[in-house]
Amino acid sequence: MDTRERLCEEIARFVQQHPDNLREGGEGRYFGEPLVGFAAADDPLFAAYQTIIGAFHRTPGEWLAEAGGDPAPRAGTVVCWVLPITVEVRQSNRRQKEFPSRQWAHTRDFGEKFNRGLRARVAEFLFEQGGRAVAPMLAASWQRVVDPVVGLASTWSERHAAYAAGLGTFSLNDGLITPRGIAHRLGTVVTDLVLEPSPRPYADYRENCLTCRGEECGACIPRCPAAAITLAGHDKDRCQQYTYETVLGTKGEEYGVSITGCGLCQTGVPCESRIPTGTGGQRTR
Ligand code: SF4
Ligand code: SF4
Repeated sequence: MDTRERLCEEIARFVQQHPDNLREGGEGRYFGEPLVGFAAADDPLFAAYQTIIGAFHRTPGEWLAEAGGDPAPRAGTVVCWVLPITVEVRQSNRRQKEFPSRQWAHTRDFGEKFNRGLRARVAEFLFEQGGRAVAPMLAASWQRVVDPVVGLASTWSERHAAYAAGLGTFSLNDGLITPRGIAHRLGTVVTDLVLEPSPRPYADYRENCLTCRGEECGACIPRCPAAAITLAGHDKDRCQQYTYETVLGTKGEEYGVSITGCGLCQTGVPCESRIPTGTGGQRTR
């Protein structure tokens, strides 16, 4: 078994066995079986992101420089994963019309804390294999950015890294539609180890979204209680204001969380747990 296979096995084991992935009361999990993908650190997409997203978006090499060392390690691979949200949590959110369910809010807060632990474990595993590693989302230098062109953004987008690693494509509501759907959390770690990149099995960056590829859908539009989605796209400011201010202010104390999310546009829609075909069928890759 090579490093790539051992790492995939370790991520799956961590998701399956770690107690922090157990939901309130120990019943069921936040996340099911993960998908893992690998992007070459020198993939031209990462340089392109500095134009598409903004110059503030850092390359894998800039992140790995934080690992220190003289000479500084050269980035080899971006390890990416998708943690699909379990069906019980998705079902609870499908029923919601205005606010996320308690289970969804817990997944956003406590499930993401588990995901932070997974990032640390992946970095540790890569050290054990003789590599250097940095999880950008755990780095003190990771920052949110308000850019005059793209609006709310950050110095590292795990969605864009996962796209580069062949894990999914973008959507009308600004999510990433993966073979396990759009309801998930993502994770990434940059390493100097050179691991074989995953194929990118799509011709267009929005191929998995029905509306984006010219088919009938738009199911996420009426699901949004903040009217943040139209056929023209997703209003990030409106969405963030609703999720981080209105929802948190209304439900945060009741649910016992410090961050809530919303995710109504990711549940009760054809792309919730798969790549939709538009005919009720399913594509897996
Ligand atoms: S619900 Fe339809 S339009 Fe919205 S993201 Fe999913 S596939 Fe695209
Ligand atoms: S997360 Fe909620 S507020 Fe944001 S676009 Fe989706 S449904 Fe609307």
